[in-house]
Parts: sequence; structure tokens; C-alpha cells
Amino acid sequence: MDSHARLHCLIPRVEIEAAVNRLATEITADYHDKKPILIGILKGSFIFLADLVRRLDFPLELDFVRLSSYGSSRKTSGTVEVVQGLESSVEGRHVIVVEDIVDSGLTISFFLNYLKKNAPASLKLCALTDKSSRRQVPVTIDYLGFTVPDKFLVGYGLDFDEQFRYLPDICILEE
Ligand code: 5GP
Ligand code: MG
Repeated sequence: MDSHARLHCLIPRVEIEAAVNRLATEITADYHDKKPILIGILKGSFIFLADLVRRLDFPLELDFVRLSSYGSSRKTSGTVEVVQGLESSVEGRHVIVVEDIVDSGLTISFFLNYLKKNAPASLKLCALTDKSSRRQVPVTIDYLGFTVPDKFLVGYGLDFDEQFRYLPDICILEE
């Protein structure tokens, strides 16, 4: 049986590319003279962040964190942990957090609050996708790629149980 039989393309690669270009234009307008730190939330944002920074032609730095994730389950646990922390100090710096999906919002609001305690000069959120219908806590997304339906998504960095990250399109994984 075809192992991709349960996958349906939601956002094809050409649309992702156009969205990344648009976000890069917005971020360039706001940050070209601010030498920001972009913080990617691993592992899901790695392809998005890699594509995004290649469209940014001004001085910037990169860092990464790993937050506790779904594991092999599809639902968020509610408790969030920093599994691997930042190397850089964000104090006095302009920070852009780059996330794959904002779902309930619990993960990202935990992390944004954690960063705020370290006194960044400014703090904004760039998210590839927003499952806004599932929000449990309010989250402001400053730079957004796509609003998506309440379906489980894989591809373009997103996994299910570590599978499917390599797919170039964003796909729905059927139950
Ligand atoms: P939240 O705390 O907002 O409920 O969960 C956000 C995190 O859950 C995202 O960073 C992402 O890693 C994961 N997540 C939420 N929805 C999906 C999905 O449809 N597919 C995948 N692969 N991960 C998801
Ligand atoms: Mg994530």
C-alpha cells in the first residue's frame, strides 16, 4: 500500500514560496536596520526559517530552542518545557520568534512570556500557520503565512511522529 495514501495537499510549494517572500518583505521593512535575533522553535520551523532567512538581505542573528512537543500524540499536553535553551542573550535585542503552527497558543505564549522576562528591546512573532479556531489563550501573530483549518498538518518541516517533515508541500494527514 502507498504510504502517502492518507496525505492530501493543502498548501502547495508555490504558495508557500509566495507567502515566505511576502513575510520577508514585511520583516525587511521593519528590521533592516535593527540587527534582530530570529529564534526558531525546533524542530517544526527549521525549513520555514531556512527559507525565510535566505530572503533577508540585512544583518541578523539566529538562535534555536526546543520546547516540549507532542511526541507521538496529536494533542498538546498543556505543560510546556524548554528542552534546549538559547545560546544568545536577548536582553536589549530585537527578537523575532519563528514558529510553525500556533494551535491552542499554549506553547508560544509560554515561550513569549519566558522571553519577556529577559528584557528584549522588542519581541514579535512570525508564524507559518495559524489554527485560529483552536485558540485557548490569546496570541498576537505579527507576521502570518496562512490561516489553516483544524486538521493535522505535515510536511515543510511539520511531522507526525517524526515522519513527513521532508515533504515540500503542507499536507493534511487524514485520521
Ligand atoms: P499549541 O501549544 O499552540 O497547541 O501547539 C503548538 C505546537 O503544536 C506547534 O508548534 C506544533 O509543533 C504542534 N502542532 C499543532 N498543530 C499541529 C499540526 O497540525 N501538525 C503538526 N505536525 N504539529 C502541530
Ligand atoms: Mg512546534
